[in-house]
Amino acid sequence: MAEQLGIEHLVELSGTEMILGFLTPLFIFAAFFLAQVLLPAIRVPGYAVDTKTGEPRNYRLNGLVVFVIAVIVWAVGFAGLPRDWFYRSSLYAVAGGTGLCALIAVAAVFSQPRGEAKNPLAGMWAGRSRELSLFNHRLDLKMYTYVVGGAMWALNALSGAAYHHGRFGDDANPGVYLYAGFLTFYVLDYFVYERVQLYTYDMMHEQVGFRMLWGGLIFYGWLFILPLWGMAAHPHPGFSTVWTPFWLAGAAVLFLAGWGISRGTNMQKYTFKRWPDRKFLGIQPEYIEAGHRKILVNGFWGMARHFNYMGEWTLALAIGLVFGHFDILWAWTYTIFILGFFTWRQLADDKFCADKYGPEKWAEYKARVPYRIFPGVY
Ligand code: NDP
Repeated sequence: MAEQLGIEHLVELSGTEMILGFLTPLFIFAAFFLAQVLLPAIRVPGYAVDTKTGEPRNYRLNGLVVFVIAVIVWAVGFAGLPRDWFYRSSLYAVAGGTGLCALIAVAAVFSQPRGEAKNPLAGMWAGRSRELSLFNHRLDLKMYTYVVGGAMWALNALSGAAYHHGRFGDDANPGVYLYAGFLTFYVLDYFVYERVQLYTYDMMHEQVGFRMLWGGLIFYGWLFILPLWGMAAHPHPGFSTVWTPFWLAGAAVLFLAGWGISRGTNMQKYTFKRWPDRKFLGIQPEYIEAGHRKILVNGFWGMARHFNYMGEWTLALAIGLVFGHFDILWAWTYTIFILGFFTWRQLADDKFCADKYGPEKWAEYKARVPYRIFPGVY
């Protein structure tokens, strides 16, 4: 099976290594937990409202420092940890991490009042509460999953690049290194703007259940490198020295364009939510009033109703192209997922927004900004 899929290199661990691979998420979750709780952090008010007090929830953010330390620990090979370990143990880590997430979900879900979720299995899957913080708001479980997930996404990619280098040496594919560079940059940028995450869909709509915990910790942290499961086992695609820079530079330009769209759109909304009359990149915000709420209708939010997802689509396309093996399906797994995921999420958010802002005002926005994600196309 693994051979047919082209991932036999991921099932080559010894018996002891398999057990260690299985336990790797346990060590990782514990190390990140301690780092987040013990390291200094900034305390900020968020966007989501605490249902008990009616005030904005409070968060301790230190993702950037935790991430930088995690990369250093990986780079120096702390405690003899081989740099390619996370990648080589991926399959076992996903299995062990999934079991661990189920245990965390049981504790996170069944410690909360049942609420409207009568079916325990449905409650376990989707969660019962929107927020869960520990030690007097010292650790927010949602933000913890993003810190672990984001950091492990980058570390798994770097680890895959280390494996690739060890295996192919001079015949290595520079696209694999560029891929790891893309993801490290993306995650670093995410942590630099960690506060902006407090203003996103997940913080407002997701509940703390298995879906969110597994999605944040394992899917995001380990499975988002799925393209690399196949692609780290392929050497340089064999382009000539003339074409190689075009291919790599083309992928990098596309990636940066996608990142720019996504970051710009998110920052415009964040700026608008915090300071409704402040200009963003010289653009004076225009909006539709919907009771006490305001719908932003110009700039990035005038291009399409979810232009930030266009950015994610674009950089996911760059990720598919960067390996240079355009005919291998593994290279496109992330791209395909992101296309489907954001198509679904835009539809879901559109419904939430019609409820929040009122169908009439939302219809007015839709008339003014007719495209969902891709201006002029969709
Ligand atoms: P958004 O940050 O776009 O959040 C959606 C919310 O924004 C809506 O519910 C609404 O909430 C508010 N909103 C929407 N339209 C408007 C408007 N015109 N004016 C004012 N407020 C508006 O969505 P996501 O959380 O999905 O995405 C955040 C970022 O994270 C994006 O860049 C996304 O691509 C990225 N992301 C990446 C993932 C990946 O796997 N690579 C996964 C998930 C997200 P309200 O009105 O209550 O403020």
